[in-house]
Amino acid sequence: MSDQMSRITLARRPEGAPVQDDFKLETGALPEPGKGEVLIEVTHLSLDPYMRGRMDDAKSYAESLEIGDTMTGQGVGRVLKSNADDFAEGDTVTGMTGWASHATLPASVLRKLDGSVPASTALGVLGMPGLTGWVGLHKYGNPKAGETLVVGAATGPVGSMVGQLAKSLGLRTVAIAGGEEKCRIATETFGFDAAIDHHAHDDAKSLRAAIAEAAPDGVDIYWENVAGQLIEAVLPLMNVHGRIPICGMVAWYGGDNIAEENQLPAMWRSILVNRLQVTGFIIFDHWDEFPEFLADVGPKVEAGEISYLEDVAEGLENAPEAFIAMLKGGNMGKQVVKL
Ligand code: NDP
Repeated sequence: MSDQMSRITLARRPEGAPVQDDFKLETGALPEPGKGEVLIEVTHLSLDPYMRGRMDDAKSYAESLEIGDTMTGQGVGRVLKSNADDFAEGDTVTGMTGWASHATLPASVLRKLDGSVPASTALGVLGMPGLTGWVGLHKYGNPKAGETLVVGAATGPVGSMVGQLAKSLGLRTVAIAGGEEKCRIATETFGFDAAIDHHAHDDAKSLRAAIAEAAPDGVDIYWENVAGQLIEAVLPLMNVHGRIPICGMVAWYGGDNIAEENQLPAMWRSILVNRLQVTGFIIFDHWDEFPEFLADVGPKVEAGEISYLEDVAEGLENAPEAFIAMLKGGNMGKQVVKL
């Protein structure tokens, strides 16, 4: 066993979209687990859009990273050494390892994986993104059979969960995705009734016309993953008593593409006129629902009733490139890094 580890740190705060020089690959001595801790060799690392927010020094729902900190992230891996009763060498576990080849973590923040499904699913369909779609749709979407749901970033782990659950509940599902290939995956793999390539539309008006055609009865649930041009396109199509669970705004994470101020009044007026229920939510308020989520969705994933797609980058050193690409839509499914 090597006595060295590597990690990716925040080298500087990005201006707009992140670039390679915002990250630094560092090596150091392998840490020793303390009492009640476990040393993990990371095999898969999750890359998620929320990490972009952690790189800024701005008030948010979670603390910012400091320069030099290891990039935040969930990993899965093998236990190399355990000083905790409940874990043994060779166990497969998941926890917040950060972007690193190894991590020592207290046993209390780790979850053991049983091997019934590939371990990497704990980062996507059966992990935080899957839970986000499951909790948010049921709690804030209030889906009803016969209604229409629209979701952006539809082939990602959150959007694909939302789409598949809504479809199974009898809703008409409309995917917004970037490119023809993603649109094909949305309908063929994830069962969306229609898919619209947002790259094929230069402005909100054109995108709106396409959505109106795909959603002839209007939109009852707009699941907000993206914001940007999509929110401008969808809002006027919302039905009375429609719901908008606000999950993320990935189009705005880089600080660009912010809607001009003079468009906001019309948007907010639509919320009033249509008595919309708009609810922001953050998944860490819902961790207590994880066991229920796993009991419901786990068997469906095992049985192939819920599909998932993973985009696997190879090597920790390639994590920044994969992350940068993901924020621009370069990922085909849940972005993970295999170490
Ligand atoms: P994805 O794997 O779907 O990756 C992000 C996707 O966003 C890209 O692939 C791209 O898809 C889309 N995208 C990026 N820029 C634009 C743009 N300008 N216009 C339209 N689409 C764009 O991400 P996740 O499924 O992991 O996350 C989806 C959303 O959910 C994110 O906003 C994330 O922050 C949020 N989230 C929120 C949580 C919460 O607690 N509230 C928890 C987890 C996730 P495409 O090429 O198809 O457009």
